[in-house]
Amino acid sequence: MRTKEIGKKLFQIELETGGFKNLICSYVINSPKITLVESGPTSSVPNLVSGLNELDIRFEDIQYLCITHVHLDHGGGAGTLLKLLPNAKVLVHPNGMPHLINPSRLWQSAQTVLGFVSEIFGKPEPVSKERIIPISDGTFDLGNDAKLTVIETLGHASHNLSFQESYNNGVFPGDTAGTYFPEFDVVIPTTPPPFRLDMALASLTKLISIQPTVLYYSHFGKATDAVQLLKDYKVQLELWAKIAEEGVKNNWSPEEIRNRIVNEDKVMSKTSVLAFIRSHRIYSKTVLENCIRGFVEYAKHKQLS
Ligand SMILES: [Zn+2]
Repeated sequence: MRTKEIGKKLFQIELETGGFKNLICSYVINSPKITLVESGPTSSVPNLVSGLNELDIRFEDIQYLCITHVHLDHGGGAGTLLKLLPNAKVLVHPNGMPHLINPSRLWQSAQTVLGFVSEIFGKPEPVSKERIIPISDGTFDLGNDAKLTVIETLGHASHNLSFQESYNNGVFPGDTAGTYFPEFDVVIPTTPPPFRLDMALASLTKLISIQPTVLYYSHFGKATDAVQLLKDYKVQLELWAKIAEEGVKNNWSPEEIRNRIVNEDKVMSKTSVLAFIRSHRIYSKTVLENCIRGFVEYAKHKQLS
């Protein structure tokens, strides 16, 4: 089974991108106007399709495809998927829209930043402009009193959205709330450059203020105790930022900054978590290289300004 019922009218689809389990998932809100959250990458669109078939979803009934942001692992597959969904419109932040219409620059920069990981995700196909609803805040009627609320949550990228569904008072934060590791029930920052700490913290405050009950992480899965997780993530981001700023001020090497973060962060310092990340082909690159670099570059920028 690729799909799992995780709440009222709500299903999770394991995308198993590149053969990796518990890495990326999409969600289906089975409201009268059927809504998907995250296409995931191009390479795993066939797995998403098999999940939709498993749920007996008629493709013509899908009305909305919500993309939290256009990074390849979240919205890369939108163009490929939309060819199969005749009536669906894509909800995306206005700043992300140009990259859906013409993904060539996004693909180039992903190849530079992510290297082999971009090949695992696959090259995005363009989305035609008529199929996009650019939005940064607002509410959609999903039929029978069900609602989808769009919340602008910048910081991880300059165009992040979170979505709130009314059946279970759950929020899909994309990468706004970090990466959740269901194997260990812990969260780790997802903060590649150009990361904006100030915006990320403000976005978390915004999500806390709406008091969600559940979070549905794109990486990976459902977690309860949503408000506590969001508060803890703020504290964790502040710790990483403090170490990065101290490191930049004292000219520590990137390795020294990384070691300090690994030692001082109470999640990263767990031997089992660290061993898992170090041995993971994707997370070893994203967490231990890109996410730490996001803090270092933010700290450097802050020092100059
Ligand atoms: Zn991501």
